[in-house]
Amino acid sequence: MCPRCKSLEVTRSRSRFRDTIMLWLGLKPYRCRECNKRFHLPAKVDRVLRRERALRIAAKERASDVPVSDGLDPFK
Ligand SMILES: [Zn+2]
Repeated sequence: MCPRCKSLEVTRSRSRFRDTIMLWLGLKPYRCRECNKRFHLPAKVDRVLRRERALRIAAKERASDVPVSDGLDPFK
């Protein structure tokens, strides 16, 4: 999602005064963890990123935890 290096490793950046104006336009400030570029993304993209992060965390938990009953439970 970084416009420079296309990395998904982006974090919400701290809002500055200029970002308040951007927020009115529906844009949220981000910083890339790979190349340190600061940029703005629409709030819609923010929702997608958060869902992807949540899915990634959920997948990680599934991989490390005791298997949950999703049809592949070996203890049944
Ligand atoms: Zn980048």
